[in-house]
Amino acid sequence: MLAFVATLLLATSVGAGELAPGVQLVPGRFVAGDQPDGNTIVFDGAGGLIVFDSGRHAAHADAIIDYAHARKLPIVAIFNSHWHLDHVGGNARLRAAYPGVRVQASGAIEQAMHGFLARYRAQIEEALAKPGGDAAQQAALRGELALIDAGPALYPDERVTRGGARMVAGRRLQVGIETRAVTAGDVWLFDPATRTLAAGDLVTLPAPLFDTACPARWQAALGRLAKVDFERLVPGHGSVLTRAQLRTYRTAFDHLLACAAGTSAKQACIDGWMREAQSLIPAADEQLARGLLDYYVDNSLRGHAAKTRELCGA
Ligand SMILES: [Zn+2]
Repeated sequence: MLAFVATLLLATSVGAGELAPGVQLVPGRFVAGDQPDGNTIVFDGAGGLIVFDSGRHAAHADAIIDYAHARKLPIVAIFNSHWHLDHVGGNARLRAAYPGVRVQASGAIEQAMHGFLARYRAQIEEALAKPGGDAAQQAALRGELALIDAGPALYPDERVTRGGARMVAGRRLQVGIETRAVTAGDVWLFDPATRTLAAGDLVTLPAPLFDTACPARWQAALGRLAKVDFERLVPGHGSVLTRAQLRTYRTAFDHLLACAAGTSAKQACIDGWMREAQSLIPAADEQLARGLLDYYVDNSLRGHAAKTRELCGA
């Protein structure tokens, strides 16, 4: 996610480590008052590493680079699940460390740079122009500006326009693409050798993040993810899920959308998510989940028909 709502808090609940042979998790991080980093998954290739999502902050990109150093292997390929800054922000730093790296992603970031990210940039400039701001917060906002201003260094070298099996650095991977789900273009990766599914923000905890989403198309995309033969699903934010846990997530997601489309009080929709997804939400994240849904029911799911139509491409 990337809206200012991210000043909410979350205690990180994901541990770094090997998920399966040749598949490493570099967990994303949420801290109070700071913008998040998405989870990164690193797959072993032949003579090099394949990185899925590069985080936002320099510290996250450095953790990926440290892992590559420890393995004595170069990073040769990056996939970005989508253009949100918590998933592409490390691209420039990884490119600087590994000039030969090839970035693959949907082309949606280029439109976003002239739309959503341009508006976000203007908001940041406005916030920075206000006198008397907190120094740490101002530094964080300047970091956001620097990321946006990296521009083409965040863009893909190769656009993913279709899904299917392909060899990437000697590893056979299945690439999936969803359009107008969480963003205009969402890429996921499935590694058949370990049955690991890197879902990006098509699955996020402690709540779905609707900032740039078409909720109905996202819901349909979750149905396609459920058909992938995975053993573990790595979400864009939060802990790794089993197949049963994805079923729980989908049920809670379906009911959240139905509730928001009906006449129930907002609080009933939030309570419904909390009840149904409870087993997926660490106690420390409950307040964050409620805060996020309080925002998204009002600002994405209800009363924004024109915005939703546009995001859905209708
Ligand atoms: Zn994210």
